[in-house]
This record gives sequence, structure tokens and C-alpha cells, in this order.
Amino acid sequence: MFNLILFGPPGAGKGTQAVKIAETFGWKHVSTGDILRAEVSQGTPLGLKVKSVMEAGHLVSDELLIEIMESVFLKNSTVKGFVLDGFPRTINQAEELDKMLLKHGQKVTQVLALEVDEDELVKRLLKRALEQGRKDDTEEVVKNRLVQYHHHTKPLTDYYIDKKLYQEVYGVGSIDDIFSQLCAVIKP
Ligand code: AMP
Repeated sequence: MFNLILFGPPGAGKGTQAVKIAETFGWKHVSTGDILRAEVSQGTPLGLKVKSVMEAGHLVSDELLIEIMESVFLKNSTVKGFVLDGFPRTINQAEELDKMLLKHGQKVTQVLALEVDEDELVKRLLKRALEQGRKDDTEEVVKNRLVQYHHHTKPLTDYYIDKKLYQEVYGVGSIDDIFSQLCAVIKP
């Protein structure tokens, strides 16, 4: 099983590229943001619990995320690979992911990070707010999400560099160009 983590700040284009990678390689795309948004829009108990946290641009608790991922893995044990988009987002999540994969005789195969500078990220996130009406893309919340990223998620870079799994791809340009660069370094 190929376990690819698509890493990067909010607005880097992880979702767009993850869909294309999953289609091309026949892997399962897992976006924890999409999973959580679906729970919120369906008004499930989990959705009600996480709604305000998400709308403020904060991170949902590690515990809940790990539970979600565990159930995703159990439901999809026969897939050839996963493209993880938006998970892990903390060192604790990364460690729990390693443990979870190990239990199933698996490991993280590769981590690809989309590199986009901060001004471009803010521009993209605000544009997305207008186009998609995402409640977590207003200016204040956008700033919050980037702060959370630098605080909690960016440190994962060293975690995966130490494991020799980490590789950067420049995330500015056309969707197809970025996709080609990603495909060129994915080693299934
Ligand atoms: P995303 O669509 O990946 O930007 O995620 C949207 C929101 O969902 C984030 O701002 C968080 O509130 C929540 N979320 C998604 N994935 C995670 C995660 N791995 N850990 C904590 N919160 C998450």
C-alpha cells in the first residue's frame, strides 16, 4: 500500500492535486477537511462538536482526528494506496499515524510538500472564500489558519526530513504543471 502525504499550508493546492494524484494512480483521496465539513453540513454529533472550532480556523482535537483516520483505514483496507490531504497536522497526529499504519504492517511511503509563499496563500484563500463561501476563509480566520499551520503543522517538516521521506515541490504555476512535477517525483 502506497501511503502518500500531501503536505503544505492551507491554500497550497493540496486538495486539487490530491484529487488528480488519486485518479491517476488509483489511490484513495482522504481529505480530513472534507470529512469534517460533511459532518458539519449533515449536523451529526461530531459535526456539531467541531463546527465552531473549524469556523474559527483552529485545529480540531488530535483525538477526534485519529479516530476518524482509524475508521477510514479500516473501511478501506483493500485499496492500493492513500493520498492524505490535511492529515497529519500535528506531531502527535503524525506519531499516531505511524503507530496505526504499523499495526497494519504499513508505513508512510512519501511526503510531498507544496511550497507557496505567504502572500500568495492569503490571496488564494480569500479568493476561495468568495468562490466557495467557505466560512473558514474570511480574512481574520485565514490569518488564524496560517498561524495554526506555523505553530502546529510546519514542525512536521523536520519530523519527516529525519525519516528521509520529505520532498518539496514548488506549488505556484498552472495546476497541470504542478501536477506534472508531483508525478515526476512520486515513486510508486
Ligand atoms: P482543510 O480543508 O484541510 O483546510 O481543513 C479545514 C479545517 O478542518 C481546518 O482548519 C481544521 O479546523 C479542520 N481539520 C482538518 N484536518 C485536520 C487535522 N488533521 N487536524 C485538526 N484539524 C483539522
